Amino acid sequence: MQVRNPRTGQIDYEFTPPAASELDARCRELRLAQPAWRDAGVDSRCATLRRFADVLEARRDDIVAALAVDTGRTKIAMGELLSVVRNLRRWCERAPAIISTAEFQSQAMPTLQIGHQLVPYPLVGVISPWNFPLALSLIDTVPALLAGCAVIVKPSEVTPRFVPPLRAAIGAVPELARVFDVVAGDRATGARLVAAVDAICFTGSVATGRKVAVAAAEHFIPAFLELGGKDPAIVLASADIDRATDAILRVSAVASGQVCLALERVYVDAAIHDRFVDLLVRKAERTRFNYPDIDDGEIGPIIFDRQADIIDEHLDDAVARGAVIRCGGKSRVLGGGRYVPATVVTHVDHRMKLMTEETFGPIMPVMPFATTEEAVALANDTVYGLSGAVFAATLAEARAVAERIDAGGMSLNDAGLTRETYEAEKNSFGLSGCGGSRHGEAGLLRFFRRKALLAQTGVPAAISG
Ligand code: NAD
Repeated sequence: MQVRNPRTGQIDYEFTPPAASELDARCRELRLAQPAWRDAGVDSRCATLRRFADVLEARRDDIVAALAVDTGRTKIAMGELLSVVRNLRRWCERAPAIISTAEFQSQAMPTLQIGHQLVPYPLVGVISPWNFPLALSLIDTVPALLAGCAVIVKPSEVTPRFVPPLRAAIGAVPELARVFDVVAGDRATGARLVAAVDAICFTGSVATGRKVAVAAAEHFIPAFLELGGKDPAIVLASADIDRATDAILRVSAVASGQVCLALERVYVDAAIHDRFVDLLVRKAERTRFNYPDIDDGEIGPIIFDRQADIIDEHLDDAVARGAVIRCGGKSRVLGGGRYVPATVVTHVDHRMKLMTEETFGPIMPVMPFATTEEAVALANDTVYGLSGAVFAATLAEARAVAERIDAGGMSLNDAGLTRETYEAEKNSFGLSGCGGSRHGEAGLLRFFRRKALLAQTGVPAAISG
C-alpha cells in the first residue's frame, strides 16, 4: 500500500498488508495467550496496563512524530497521546470496582442462590478510522483488555505510520504483547479480521459499518459500531452569543472538522441570527492554517484527499442552491496539502448536502428558526443521531430542548463534551451506530458474556413434586 502525506501530497510511505494466513496465525497466537491473561485477574491486568501507560509516556516523542506525519498536525497528535495515557490510567483505577459480581438470593425461589460469572470474549477485533488514528485504535482496546480479552487492532490504511512505534511500545511490556497486537492493513484485512474474532468494535463510516454489521451477523458475533454524524447546535434567543460562538467554532473547526462529533449544522433563533453570524464570522476569520509552520495555527490539512473533494462538493451544491459563503470557502492547495478554512455559510436549507450529509470539514452552515418547535424538528431531520448542543440563558431551558433531540449525547451551554470525558454512558441513535455504550461502565461490561450460576441450597424437587 502506498500512503500519501497530507502536508505534501506526496506518496512517502509504504507498507504491506498481512497475508490472510499471517493474520490468521496472529489471531491464533493471541487466542492461545488469552486464558492466562483472563485468569491473572483484573488487578494484575491493571498493573500491566499501568506499565504500558508509562511506556507510552516515555516513548511519546517517537509515537507523536509518526502520528504528526500521518495527520499533518502536531498539537493534536500530542493531545491524542496524552488523552490515551490519561484514559488508560483512569480505566485502571475504575475497572476493579466495575468488574465485581455480587451473589443474591432468588425472590422467586428462596432456596436458590444466584451468582454470575463474567466471561470475556476471547479475541476482540478493533477497526479504526484515520481522523484520530491513535485514540480511536485504543479507545475500545483498553476496556477490552481490562475485561480479560485479547485484542487485535487494524488501523486505517490512510494513517499507518504510527503503527511501528506503537507496536514497539507494546513490545516493551511482554505480558501485554502476548495478548495485544496492532496490524497495519487495508480494507481486505479489516474484512478478514471480522471473520477471525469473537466481537468486533468498528469506528468509521456508515457504509463500511453496514458491511461490518452484515459480516458480524453472519458469524454471530456482536458488532459495536461508532459511525458518522451530522451534529446540530441549537442557539436559543436567550443564549450568550459570545460563549455560543466560541464553543461552536471550536467544535466545528477543531481538527479541521474531521471529527465525528463536529457540529455540522447550526440553528439560531431568528431574533439573534444576524448578530450571531457576524460574531461567528469575525472569530472564524481569525483562525489560521498550520502552514507553513506545523506548530502554528489551528487548522491542519485534510488528512484524506477524497474528503477534501467531498467538502468542496457540498459547498458547490449549497451555493448552487442559493447558499452564501460568509467567510472561508473551498479547499486550497498549500505545499501539496489540501486545506479548508473555517467557513460560515448562510441561506442554507435541508435540500442541500451541506445540511444532510456528513461533510467532515470546518464548515458551519447557519440557519435561522422562528420557534423552538421548528428548531427541534430541523435538528431531528437527519438519518444520524450521534450528539449535539443547545445554548440558552439557563441550563434548565437548554435541557428542555436537548431532551427532545434524537441523539446519544447532548452538551448544554458548550459543545463536544462527550469527547472530553468517557464517564457518561451514551448510545448512538439512527445511523450513527449501535451496539451499546462505549463510554461509562457499560464500555467495559460489554466485553463480557454473563454466565448465570444457580445454586440450589434446598432439596432439588423430585419429578412428582
Ligand atoms: P471508513 O469506514 O472508510 O474506514 C474505517 C476502517 O474500516 C478503516 O480501517 C478501513 O480500512 C476499514 N474497512 C474498510 N472496508 C472494510 C470492510 N469491508 N470490512 C472491515 N473493515 C473495513 O472510515 P474513515 O473514512 O476511515 O473514517 C471516517 C468516518 O469515521 C466518518 O464517517 C466519521 O464520522 C467516522 N467516525 C466515527 C466516530 C464515532 O465515534 N462515532 C469517531 C471517528 C470517526
